[in-house]
Amino acid sequence: MQNIIEFIQKTFKSNKFIPLHEPRFIGNEKEYLNKCIDSTFVSSVGEYVDKFEEEFAKKVGSKYAIATVNGTSALHISLLLANVTENDEVITQALTFIATCNAISYIKSKPIFVDVDKDTMGMSPDSLKNFLEKNCEIKDSKCINKSTKKIIKACVPMHTFGHSCRIDEIKSICDEWKISLVEDAAESLGSFYKKQHTGTFGDLGAFSFNGNKIITSGGGGVIVTDDEKLARRAKYLTTTAKVPHPFEYIHDEIGFNYRMPNLNAALLVAQLENLDFFIKRKKELANKYKEFFKDNNDVNFVEEPKNSNSNYWLQAVLLKDSSNRDGFLEFMNKNGVMTRPIWKLMNELEMFKDSQSSTLENSKYLEQHIVNIPSSVIL
Ligand SMILES: *Cc1c(COP(=O)(O)O)cnc(C)c1O
Repeated sequence: MQNIIEFIQKTFKSNKFIPLHEPRFIGNEKEYLNKCIDSTFVSSVGEYVDKFEEEFAKKVGSKYAIATVNGTSALHISLLLANVTENDEVITQALTFIATCNAISYIKSKPIFVDVDKDTMGMSPDSLKNFLEKNCEIKDSKCINKSTKKIIKACVPMHTFGHSCRIDEIKSICDEWKISLVEDAAESLGSFYKKQHTGTFGDLGAFSFNGNKIITSGGGGVIVTDDEKLARRAKYLTTTAKVPHPFEYIHDEIGFNYRMPNLNAALLVAQLENLDFFIKRKKELANKYKEFFKDNNDVNFVEEPKNSNSNYWLQAVLLKDSSNRDGFLEFMNKNGVMTRPIWKLMNELEMFKDSQSSTLENSKYLEQHIVNIPSSVIL
């Protein structure tokens, strides 16, 4: 294991603590922030928020983009736009970051957990299909869960660490079963599946710009969609459900104060300009790791799955023997190389332990074997 430490220190040109993921501010960040402050438009109205939405939609190839305060709020609003209510259920994957399930829970809807694929670490279309065929029926163009009698309104797959799941197959299954597809693309900006950008396959897609993501606005998120009505409603719900009027405050629904401030957008516009460079460097790092771990019998580097052109946001290894995991984590962290296990399965957390789930063989396997290693852009 000492050789892994030495390799990572050499690669990151550092003998000090090497974090998992640091942001990089090497472009126009300070210039735009200064301009933003000078303009006094630092809050929820301003040219950078509008500019960001325009540039982002162009970048991922969607018709509309609506900026939000974070990725969780982008997911929350996306689920509301998919008409999810507290009486409904939402299918997601057991192996994901908590935010996916928090958003489902804000509406008081119930999550159902299906398995992931071993190679993509994202939702398995086979597991999804199997769950639906075993447990559900279509009535009046709605997907009914036979055991709870509730409607399954939405499905939220997630593109883990920037590797895309088999999203085209998931989309076909959702179409067949009359379920809205909301993609949690929080980790996959710059990742493509069969040449189409992740987050644009579903009715709605949500991205995050938290400090640890591939580009950051400090905190921030965005919703993408090709549906003009959904886009207009997304903007309206994230801006306190205010009816357009030159001076009156008229709100005709409970809305949210979820709009990304201009200050954050100024930072983000500059970050977006460097996205391609960041991804290029991440792929170079992935190649270095791949080469280094090639002959290692205990540790396998996780490569992009078939049909995925990944952003390699967080690099990961798969430990052959799960009994070595905690020892590996302890040794690395003690020696200044930050490593972290993948998430605990959602169905094992206190809040979701009574949720319905399919068999979760792959999720359990990955939970025990996957570890993230330093992934920052090297300058
Ligand atoms: C980061 C992340 C989110 C949430 O984003 P925030 O901006 O932190 O609210 C949602 N889902 C996944 C999978 C994430 O990694």
